[in-house]
Amino acid sequence: MEIIDVHIHFSRIDSFIRTAESISRLDYSREGFIKAFKEANVVKAIGMGLTEQRKGAFPDDTSPNPMLLDLDDLPRGLYLCPGVNPAALKKNRDGELEKIERIIREKTVAGIKIYAGYYPYYVYDSIYEPVYALAEKYGLPLVIHTGVTYSEKGLLKYSHPLTVDEAAVRFPKNIFVVAHLGDPWHLDACALLWKNSNVYADLSGLLNCDKTEVEATIRNPRETAYLAGILAYADVYDRLLFGSDWPLVPVLPYIEYIKEIIPEKYHEAVFYKNALNVFAKLNEYYEKI
Ligand SMILES: [Zn+2]
Repeated sequence: MEIIDVHIHFSRIDSFIRTAESISRLDYSREGFIKAFKEANVVKAIGMGLTEQRKGAFPDDTSPNPMLLDLDDLPRGLYLCPGVNPAALKKNRDGELEKIERIIREKTVAGIKIYAGYYPYYVYDSIYEPVYALAEKYGLPLVIHTGVTYSEKGLLKYSHPLTVDEAAVRFPKNIFVVAHLGDPWHLDACALLWKNSNVYADLSGLLNCDKTEVEATIRNPRETAYLAGILAYADVYDRLLFGSDWPLVPVLPYIEYIKEIIPEKYHEAVFYKNALNVFAKLNEYYEKI
């Protein structure tokens, strides 16, 4: 089965580099990406644009818009969700928006990433309105960080999945993808999908560990039954998307983990087809990893 991974990172962020060395124990490089993703039969991936201007600054208020993928030259088959820094947007609205639009026109852009919680703005804040208008103009979904932040500097009240409800209602022409299924507010994220037909969720970043630990989790029915049960109850498989959050977890074992919590009859949808429905731009370019 060919797979699309809708949520990875490919940016020079110090905490990601250290995680790859000592927690997920993988090769966080261009070569490491190509090898791991080919081996896992991932044919396309979407990188969440992110930058820090000095080591350890993430989430960085001083990063210019849009935040991109600056680890190395982009491998084939890797698409971009340019990241929005609302602090910079606040200082120079029109100039920053122009830069975001230029990247949308020039690069293989699949969506736009909003870092709720990392930056202290609710997703329905008026600061994001012109960004949502751009997303609508170019047919791009908005990927929203939801759940616990990978930095103690984040604020959880901005990243709770229920905050996306108000954005989904106020901006019905936009499509929202809640990243990480609101981890650990999974049930709240499911309520959001259940109610709002313009909301999807990616299943990335539910584990942050190395291969051995992912395999131990798969063997532990207490861990897998919990999420499998919630997802079966919510029954929104047509709006769930596979994502890994690489380099926070090795991709191949993580695919096996997600296979464990999603019934087999929905694998084709969750690992491939739903992504093409949400990220329509993936249909326009044909290069594979
Ligand atoms: Zn991520």
